[in-house]
Amino acid sequence: MRLIIFGPPGAGKGTQAKLLSSHLSIPHLSTGEILRSKQQDKDNLALKLKKIMSTGQLVSDEILNEIVSKKILSNKCKKGFILDGYPRTLKQLNYLDLFLVNKKVNLDIILNLQLNEETIENRLVERSKIENREDDSNDTILTRIITYNTETRPIIEFYKRKYPKIFFELNGEQKIENIQSEIIKILRKC
Ligand code: AMP
Repeated sequence: MRLIIFGPPGAGKGTQAKLLSSHLSIPHLSTGEILRSKQQDKDNLALKLKKIMSTGQLVSDEILNEIVSKKILSNKCKKGFILDGYPRTLKQLNYLDLFLVNKKVNLDIILNLQLNEETIENRLVERSKIENREDDSNDTILTRIITYNTETRPIIEFYKRKYPKIFFELNGEQKIENIQSEIIKILRKC
C-alpha cells in the first residue's frame, strides 16, 4: 500500500504515520526525520541543512527529490510506503508524479489532517518545550506556517482534485487514537 499523509506542522502526521507504518508493516518515509538525521553527519551538507531548517525554510527540491526517489526504489519500499512531509512544493509534486508514472507505481490513499491555525501555533510551542526542536522556536513557527500555506496547500488541492476517490480529509483536532481508528476505517474501505 502506498500512502501520502499531509497536514500542517504540528498536525500529528508523523505520529499517525508511525502507527500506520507498524499496522501495515511498510516504511514511514518522513523527509523531516531523514533530513534531521543527515544533520548529524557533520559534513558540508549537514551544515547547509542545519542553516535552512533552523529558520523554518524549505530544503532544495533537488535534494528532496533525490532522497525520496532512492527510498521508493529501495527493497524496503517494495510492498509500499507512507510519505510524510513530501511532496511539499510544485517542483516536488511534478517530479514525484512523473517518477511514479515512469515506475508504474500507483498511489492508494492520500490523507490530509486538518488543523486550525491557533491549534498549530499552540502545538508547535508545546513541542518546542518537549522535543527541543530548533525549528519549533517562536521565530520560525510563523515562517513554517506561511511556507505551508503558500507552498504546500496548493499541492494538497492538486491531489484532492486529481484523485478524489482516494483522497480523505481528517479532523486533526481529535485524539491520536480516534484519528488512527478513522484512518484504519478508511483503509478497510479502499
Ligand atoms: P517536518 O519534520 O516535516 O516538519 O520537516 C522539518 C523541516 O525539514 C522543514 O521545515 C524543512 O526545512 C525540511 N523539509 C522536510 N521535508 C521537506 C520537503 N519535502 N521539502 C523541503 N524541505 C523539507
